[in-house]
Order: sequence, then structure tokens, then C-alpha cells
Amino acid sequence: MSPRKRSAMEHTAQPGPASSECPDCHALTADLEAHKHWHSRLVHDIATAVDKDINRRTHSS
Ligand SMILES: [Zn+2]
Repeated sequence: MSPRKRSAMEHTAQPGPASSECPDCHALTADLEAHKHWHSRLVHDIATAVDKDINRRTHSS
């Protein structure tokens, strides 16, 4: 009997480089923390723009 060496090592779980996927928009980013900051800033910008628009409409009428 020849004991076969089964290679239990699979090549599926290889640690990638310093890039991870954003759980929100599934974009590959090298810096997930900075990307999350970008997300919050984007949301903040949109909220500010909408607020300005609402203010403008309210004051013009
Ligand atoms: Zn994202």
C-alpha cells in the first residue's frame, strides 16, 4: 500500500494584496477605511446639496 499524499491545500483562499471589497458598493479598494470616509463624505455632500436646494426653494417662494 502506498499512502497517497492528499494535498489539502486549495488555491481558493489566497490572501490577496492590500485590496478589499467594499461591503456597500462592492468596489475593490486598496484602502477600505479611506473608501468608507469617501462614502460618508459623499452622503454628506448630497445631503448638504439637497438641504441647500430646499432652503432656496423655501426662501424664493
Ligand atoms: Zn464603497
